Amino acid sequence: MTGLQAIRADLLDFTAEPAWGDATDAAAGVRWRPDHWLLVGADGRIAGVQREDPGPGVQRHDQRGRLLLPGFIDTHVHSPQVPVLASYGTALLDWLDTYTFPSETAWADPAVAQRGTALFLDALLAHGTTAAVVFPTVHKGSAAALFEGATARGMRVIGGKVLMDRHAPEGLRDTVAEAERDCIDLIARWHGRGRCSYALTVRFAPTSTPAQLAMAGALCRADPSLYMQTHVAENRDEVRWVAELFPQARSYLAVYDDAGLLHPRSVLAHGIWLDADDRARLAATGAHVAHCPTSNLFLGSGLYGWRAASAAGHATSLASDVGGGTSLSLLRNAAAAYTVQALQGERLTAWRALHTATRGAAQALQLGHEIGALEPGLVADFTLWDWTAGPLDAERQRVARGLHEKVFAWMTLADERHLAATWVAGRALYTRRSTA
Ligand SMILES: [Zn+2]
Repeated sequence: MTGLQAIRADLLDFTAEPAWGDATDAAAGVRWRPDHWLLVGADGRIAGVQREDPGPGVQRHDQRGRLLLPGFIDTHVHSPQVPVLASYGTALLDWLDTYTFPSETAWADPAVAQRGTALFLDALLAHGTTAAVVFPTVHKGSAAALFEGATARGMRVIGGKVLMDRHAPEGLRDTVAEAERDCIDLIARWHGRGRCSYALTVRFAPTSTPAQLAMAGALCRADPSLYMQTHVAENRDEVRWVAELFPQARSYLAVYDDAGLLHPRSVLAHGIWLDADDRARLAATGAHVAHCPTSNLFLGSGLYGWRAASAAGHATSLASDVGGGTSLSLLRNAAAAYTVQALQGERLTAWRALHTATRGAAQALQLGHEIGALEPGLVADFTLWDWTAGPLDAERQRVARGLHEKVFAWMTLADERHLAATWVAGRALYTRRSTA
């Protein structure tokens, strides 16, 4: 035996960003390889893609008729917020006070954090997500639990302990000195270890003092390989509050810019209420926006201006933002992203949506050499999907003309029930239980 594995399926991935509005089957950047074999080496990396049967001596997995995609990359999600999914009746600031902060205090107990993290990471895999940029809680142990859990599964994660030294309840606040110590310790233990990267994790401007933002900025400057994640301009009441708290800043985004927190490894969730100067700063600094459509619709936050972001030249990735978002499935979020654009008179193709959830996110995170495509040398993180899960979408697929129509209908109608298996670094970590 060579140690090689081979998976036979219909392979879809992307070689470049597909253009807005090009819903043709031959759109540039789309790579469709029906009935091909994906070869996976013993090192957990993709060894090749070929049409021919690799022959004996290779462990073969015949998944003919299934769709094989690179694993989804969720660029903004909260590991402790599974218990607040689908919470009724509030917008962002009340939602935080009523549901989220009380729930996150439980993660002060490392055993609770470990249990919750295991549930969360397994749920990501069961939704087809193999890599994520994650907010745990303010507690140091919650970040350690994330890195330990991801390492045990071989998953690519980016995260860090949440920074919050004001405007949060007792039990969820740190101090500048304590937070700095915890960050330095966690960075030394986890940043660059296996598939873990550390992110300075500013919850959002209102919950950090200017001194804490400056501390985070100094750590970013000291090591440009560190990530930074936060929220920006999600909701209008929040934007007004930030203007009161930081009267000297030109805008909400400028609060982070002034603290040295915008750079090519910065991920800012939402970015709904930004102006042209903000978008130009994102483009100039290489920072990007994690678009969270189910969250934005569910909390009534607003509609993300993706076309304006593209025109300004900064990247957009796709994220679930669970528990503000209502599903860990990036397919559900892709369908919601289509709706958000439709409400603004734009149309999001399946090509752009799926590129954003895979190769686009990998590139925005400076991880294009590791994940996001089905190319030799990249880590074998991929998913196998059924085209249909019942008579209704089977009928829709039967009448579909052409590849984009098929894939768009699938993306819009499918969810985690269509997922057959999720592979991480060449191992099947999730396989759907047979219903037979
Ligand atoms: Zn969030």
